[in-house]
Amino acid sequence: MQPEILTADLESLLSAYLDPSSIATIHQACLFSAEAHAGQTRLSGEPFVSHPLQVAKTMAELRLDAVTITAGVLHDVLEDTPVTKKILSKKFGRAVANVVDGVSKIDHLGHASRQMTQAETFQKMMLAMSMDLRVILVKLADRLHNMRTITHAPRDKQRRIACETLEIFVPIAQRIGMDTIRRELERLCFATLHPLRHRVLSKAVERRNRELKKACDRLVQSIRSHLRAANIKHSIESREKHLFSIYQKMKEKNVKLSRIMDMFAIRIVVDSVDDCYRSLGLVHSIYKPLPGRFKDYIAIPKMNGYQSLHTSVFAPNENPVEVQIRSRDMDAVAENGIAAHAAYKYGGGKGKQPMPAAGRWVQSMTELKKQTGSPVDFFENVKIDLFSDEVYVFTPQGQIKTLAKGATVLDFAFAVHTDVGLSCRHARIGNHIVPLDTVLRNGQTIHIVNDERPHADPSWLNSAITAKARVAIRNHLKKMDDRQAIVFGKQLLKDALKKLNHKLERVAKDRLQSAAQQLGATINKGDDNYLFRQIGLGDQLPMLVARKLVFSSDKDEAAFDNDAPQQPMTIHGTEGIVVHYAKCCHPIPGDPIIGALNPGRGLTVHHSQCHNLQNVDLGHKMNLRWSKTANQQEYHVAIRAVTTHRRGMLALIASRIADMNANIESIGFEERPGMMAAISFTISVHDLNQLNAIFAKIESASSGVRVSRVR
Ligand code: MN
Repeated sequence: MQPEILTADLESLLSAYLDPSSIATIHQACLFSAEAHAGQTRLSGEPFVSHPLQVAKTMAELRLDAVTITAGVLHDVLEDTPVTKKILSKKFGRAVANVVDGVSKIDHLGHASRQMTQAETFQKMMLAMSMDLRVILVKLADRLHNMRTITHAPRDKQRRIACETLEIFVPIAQRIGMDTIRRELERLCFATLHPLRHRVLSKAVERRNRELKKACDRLVQSIRSHLRAANIKHSIESREKHLFSIYQKMKEKNVKLSRIMDMFAIRIVVDSVDDCYRSLGLVHSIYKPLPGRFKDYIAIPKMNGYQSLHTSVFAPNENPVEVQIRSRDMDAVAENGIAAHAAYKYGGGKGKQPMPAAGRWVQSMTELKKQTGSPVDFFENVKIDLFSDEVYVFTPQGQIKTLAKGATVLDFAFAVHTDVGLSCRHARIGNHIVPLDTVLRNGQTIHIVNDERPHADPSWLNSAITAKARVAIRNHLKKMDDRQAIVFGKQLLKDALKKLNHKLERVAKDRLQSAAQQLGATINKGDDNYLFRQIGLGDQLPMLVARKLVFSSDKDEAAFDNDAPQQPMTIHGTEGIVVHYAKCCHPIPGDPIIGALNPGRGLTVHHSQCHNLQNVDLGHKMNLRWSKTANQQEYHVAIRAVTTHRRGMLALIASRIADMNANIESIGFEERPGMMAAISFTISVHDLNQLNAIFAKIESASSGVRVSRVR
């Protein structure tokens, strides 16, 4: 088959809006693609190049720019042929090469799980898309053609592709407002996954629509004549609701088809916003509106940029019908979303065009990538964002905020401003004070009550669902960790210096710098805290650094006779992330303790008799003691109760623990030979006194129980 022939209908589509030189480039790309894919065939038996050409056609119907169409024609050459990105870049430009690379799968040569490969490929695509939106336009057109021709694939592959499409590409299409493509993808997935249901339902819908259509047409006629009389230029049509949305509604509400009322929607497209509201007034003056169904998406656009007025009206003796009213521009966005927006061409937002909301969402991917660990994490996070519906709430000043459904007071605070979020304590909604994890409902006005200083803690990550809030909280926590490491490191160094009869204040600044350099630290200019941070995180040993600071040669050092008694360092329990309590021995205030410095992790506190201390180098160990106020914090401790008669024993022990104001964190059971049973608990307590009291209380409750600590 000749590629020139294949491009004929494509060419007529293109010549309607592109200049001849762009069309010539696209033609070049078609020839290049045909040559690269020569000999390959689709499962349908057609030459492979028919696929990229169909993809390009879909994009030409959306009137996308020359770069997108060129990339569409070439979208499979990197994945399926020996052509390299470099060659593409040279022949068709960097933009085209980048878009094609963005839609190409990551090839692992089989040494990674499918889940991992899928997640990595997804992350790569989303990041490429955040650099250039055209990546996703190509990907959606590609997926559409693959779904249109899916019947040629084996059954299990059909199902897998359809699931993936519903899970990933349908929500993405929805999120960027490409509704025409989304609807077709949904219908194809439905037909693939449930062929029988699809067949039966489409027949039933067709029958029902024949009955309803007449009534709907009468309504259209009547509205049309009123609009004409009012001199409002317009086009009006009735549209069948699409099959998949009917199916979803039946499933969701668990109703039969005959109970679904809104099988049709009437769409009025007018010239201006002003005409939208005039038409709405007119429709409401003829037909009674259904209460609670009016929605003004013009004043409050959906997150994907969708704008329209929605209302449902009762026609005399008829079922209620939904009426949608919008301007021509709004209609283009409603059908094709971001593809209708010139801004997509500017990809990363470098252009003059303001980015629509959907574009900003895409750009937020780069930030999301920074704060998520693995591609699988990233995938999960984006999916939450993708599937969320929207909720609209107000600031006290009446400003509207659109957030993902399920968003909390905390998310709202961060949507207002990062500083507001970081320092918020709780909120007032109406006359009620509500906590930060309160889920928002439409129309609420939210007053955030702030503290003076930021005080985000890790538990906030459980209350925030929006990417913006989560990124801000994570960044803040990182900064806090950094501060704690510096404070702690400084303290460790001071203590070490004291042992050498020296003071940190007496050490010159350049001395600190040169010591840092000697210890192999690459100094960031102006970062005076570098050494402290290194020590605080356990990357440098405080005594080693102290010696470097005090002695200028080994001789000096040898001459120094250290008889001073070693002062143990004090643990307050409030050091934060730089001090950990060992999970092997669970030390609590009252226990004798010894510290072990771990590179990169700071200090781990062990019980002085813990076996694991044997594996720690002497230079990494340090004497510790608890501060008097350390018992104001809570510490985890592992205990085991061994009992002969287990019936009711768990309840008994648990209630004794609760009586003593301790919390149970977890419970485990161990089988013991014979009649014995062992129950292990992790509980949180303030100190050894409290723990001993708990032991006494439990053992006094039943003579058959022995309790001990687990070490
Ligand atoms: Mn393809």
